[in-house]
Amino acid sequence: MRLSQIPIFTLREDPSDAEIPSHKLLVRAGYIQKLASGIYVYGPLMWRVLKKVSTIVREELDREGANEMLMPILQPREIWDESGRWNRYIADGILFHLGDSKQAELCLGPTHEEVITTYVKRICNSYKQLPFNLYQIQDKFRDEIRPRFGLMRGREFIMKDAYSFDADDAGLDRSYDAMNRAYHKIFERCGLEFSAVDADAGAIGGSGSQEFMVIADKGEDAILICDRGNYAANVEKADSRITPSPDGGAAQPLRKESTPDIRTVEQLEGFFKMPAARMAKTVLYEAVFPDHVETVAVMMRGDLEINEVKLVNAVDGLAVRLADEATVKRVTGAEVGFAGPIGLKEEVRVFADLSLQGMTNLLTGCCETDFHCLDVNPGRDFPMPEFRDLRRARSGEGCPRCDGSLIEKRGIEVGHIFKLGTKYSVPMEATFLDQNGKRKPLVMGCYGIGISRTAQSAVEQNYDENGIIWPRPIAPFEVVVAVLDPKKSDQVEVGTRLYEQLRAAGVDACLDDRAMSPGVKFKDLDLLGFPLRVVVGRRASEGIVEFSERRKSEEKSEIAVDTVLARVSS
Ligand code: ATP
Ligand code: MG
Repeated sequence: MRLSQIPIFTLREDPSDAEIPSHKLLVRAGYIQKLASGIYVYGPLMWRVLKKVSTIVREELDREGANEMLMPILQPREIWDESGRWNRYIADGILFHLGDSKQAELCLGPTHEEVITTYVKRICNSYKQLPFNLYQIQDKFRDEIRPRFGLMRGREFIMKDAYSFDADDAGLDRSYDAMNRAYHKIFERCGLEFSAVDADAGAIGGSGSQEFMVIADKGEDAILICDRGNYAANVEKADSRITPSPDGGAAQPLRKESTPDIRTVEQLEGFFKMPAARMAKTVLYEAVFPDHVETVAVMMRGDLEINEVKLVNAVDGLAVRLADEATVKRVTGAEVGFAGPIGLKEEVRVFADLSLQGMTNLLTGCCETDFHCLDVNPGRDFPMPEFRDLRRARSGEGCPRCDGSLIEKRGIEVGHIFKLGTKYSVPMEATFLDQNGKRKPLVMGCYGIGISRTAQSAVEQNYDENGIIWPRPIAPFEVVVAVLDPKKSDQVEVGTRLYEQLRAAGVDACLDDRAMSPGVKFKDLDLLGFPLRVVVGRRASEGIVEFSERRKSEEKSEIAVDTVLARVSS
């Protein structure tokens, strides 16, 4: 390709709505253009990048025996009612839905479990047809609450979604491992620094699940990684080893103490000279369900924090949010800051974190303004709460698998693999006949990669003050042969010959034959970020050109024209 034939329009200024470097750079370099919130046009150079990422994804999935196909974007409501997800996705506000001229309801696919399950149940009837894996690369639609960061969180974006079908759990384990292998290869080949972490299964559901996280300071996800490499998990899911709290001893009689205006854990620590690890704080939440909202209380050791994702899973609701002041007053009968397990309205379901299990003589609130209780014993002074893991693991705490400790990093979720099991096949009646002629539900896995998000993540990891530095395997072009002055015939002649030689050798090269001043051209090429550059300038007639790599520390050297191919290939 000749750059003079590609409409490349780089901008001087950062776009005003861009908060992270990769978003700024992709817009400034003209790779993407915003059409509306979370909706982007991919320009010709961006499309080259997206195609390269897709090719890597296809090659690695095909290697594991997966089959590419294509499903419709428009999906009828009926299949979403069968899986039971229509109302949930509507309530979450994530579904783009519409009616047709016959008043039938449809949605634009945010994901394709319903479609694939419907497709497979009509073609698969026997264990002899299993296992298989089907995938597609296609636009997905999600009405994200906060579309932002360019392609990172779009409302229309490109996803690869794969679905495996097996006869039993052992088969699913094999299919899942195959995808896990493929994902490692895919992100390695894309030139990304990433980590595979244990993940929460979220709205998609199912048992085992891992996310592939590109490590980046501006990533939206927090992950905890063991400093000895034995554990990595999304904070939403992570567990950790914590120091046990001091022993409370044998149960003592309950005492109530006046604590005027003492509300927080820190204030209580000072007031009672007691460590936070001997207290249980009680936090009230509103748990949101498809048809109602319920107030729940969460008891947590005073020095620890609540993980709201774990809480959503514990209540099996759609979401949780902190209860407002009026609700707190209503269910506790006290001012904010004095909630406790004693004296709570009966309708409130009480959960307690596992860290409190077996503890005696706790300090807690007792639903009375300006009072707290000492020597509180669960089961005696209030009904035994439901003990669950509700704690947010934190950096510095112990690794749950070894003696190491956890370090927090930020990550961008580029891929996610799930063991779905029979979550969709049971309600949607996708079954097969096993060896004994018995009808069984298909055992499924699903596996996503954000193609557009992956491409932008590569920029988030590879840039400098001058622009983008594409990893070579996904760069729009691997090499640019830049003719400094397209009016000089010797430069054009040497440049064109070199470009054609590189192309003939299978190198994805482009020729920068645009007429612009050298200064502007260099700035532009820095911004665009092609990994290798050959500048054909005033020494072209002597057979000398300048070779450089677009790296964080750039080095330039003058080399002979006939050594360029060898340099590029090495
Ligand atoms: P997130 O937690 O970031 O909202 P998700 O867990 O809802 O993502 P999945 O349903 O697992 O996403 O989708 C598979 C992949 O699609 C994700 O790993 C991510 O790379 C990509 N993806 C999801 N939502 C978006 C989006 N709004 N814009 C771009 N890519 C996305
Ligand atoms: Mg996910």
